[in-house]
Amino acid sequence: MEAPVEPPGEVAAVPAPRFLADIYEDVSRCNKCSLCQAVCPTYQVNPLEWETARGRVALIRDAMEGRLELRDIADGPLSTCLTCDNCMAACPPRVPTAAIVDRARQELHEQEGYPRGQRWLLRRVLPRPGGTRTLHRLSRAAQVTGLHAAARGLHITRWIGTVGGMAERIGPLARRRADQRVAGLPAVTPPVRGRLGFLICCYQNLVAPEATEAAMRVLLANGWELEAPELGCFGLPAQSLGDGPAVREMAKRTVTGLADLEVDGLVGDVASCVGHVRRYGRILGDNPVLGDAARRVADVTDLASVRLERTGWRAPLGPLPWHVTIDEPCSLSIDGPERGVARALLARIPELRITPLEEAAMCCGGPGSYATGQPEHSDAILARKFEHVVATGADVLVTENVSCLVQLRVGARRHAPQVRVMHLMEVLDAAIRAASTG
Ligand code: SF4
Ligand code: SF4
Repeated sequence: MEAPVEPPGEVAAVPAPRFLADIYEDVSRCNKCSLCQAVCPTYQVNPLEWETARGRVALIRDAMEGRLELRDIADGPLSTCLTCDNCMAACPPRVPTAAIVDRARQELHEQEGYPRGQRWLLRRVLPRPGGTRTLHRLSRAAQVTGLHAAARGLHITRWIGTVGGMAERIGPLARRRADQRVAGLPAVTPPVRGRLGFLICCYQNLVAPEATEAAMRVLLANGWELEAPELGCFGLPAQSLGDGPAVREMAKRTVTGLADLEVDGLVGDVASCVGHVRRYGRILGDNPVLGDAARRVADVTDLASVRLERTGWRAPLGPLPWHVTIDEPCSLSIDGPERGVARALLARIPELRITPLEEAAMCCGGPGSYATGQPEHSDAILARKFEHVVATGADVLVTENVSCLVQLRVGARRHAPQVRVMHLMEVLDAAIRAASTG
């Protein structure tokens, strides 16, 4: 007897994404458990569903499946996300919300076109090594002539958009950039262990050159010879502003610029920049000419602190009778080994007291141009951060990222003028100097 033929079962139709097909699987992994709520800085200061990873991911999925347009969520869910990935640390299926939001911003630009001023900055100014020099000269000239102070007083800086807003927050620039200070560095302390290429972050080069100088001094004192190639921006600003072509172009220029460098590895002192270069394999992996070189650059790049801890600290450290607390840049890989490195290095300094900071891994509200684009969110997140800083009683707040340095210095001016904000390498450099003078 023949078996009866079953009618075909009802299979639920799976809507095909209209765009961003490459992240559809990531977006679909969200199980709506809401564990991201408690750790999302934006939800903490504005407790609405669309301020969580769950809300953002659901809305982006709605857009992909045609229930709304990306433009409908551009000004809230897409723009207020810090892309800090703090949610991912609490997320059981590890939904990469920051990467999803980055891709959605990029898709929106591709649908609507890139803002003209932003495109000029990301495609014409920052990729060129001379771009930073020009910005520095213009800004210094404005400072020296009093134009900068006048512009701030009249709030003209705010009218000229993101760059003006950032200039207002940063304040006066140092006379000499980090790349101009290389010539005055001390000789390497023998015996020499190897030669490293130092990746100078173009933003830190302008706004915190003393931190980069300190990082170089620390590496030299630990037996590493340095070479600092002249490069443009590595591409992180383009990544956070959603300009995919600029991200790839800056990665290509950097990889090409490093091609002839004969070194044992690459280091940088800015956590977010180094993290971005370490993604070059993914950014250029499909490039038939530069793919392999991009993967090599990514593989040999380290944060200076990580390189020092991994290869063994050597320089003598003198006593620093300071009380410090550490804010961890959210750009450090989630629960990766880098998270404990700053503390391990500082713990070597005699007489230094370290008090743990509550919510140390939570973003300070200052990545990239966030503070100028989302001032209310940024200020509220910063105020919360400083409640925890003040509670430690520390007189020095340590970080390892340039955006955090700028943001936390603003926070200290407002909420805790007694607290000094320093890059990790500045503290280590001070301890090395204390040893040599003690
Ligand atoms: S990336 Fe940061 S701001 Fe964005 S949803 Fe996750 S925790 Fe919140
Ligand atoms: S923690 Fe992860 S899986 Fe859970 S709701 Fe948030 S994004 Fe979705």
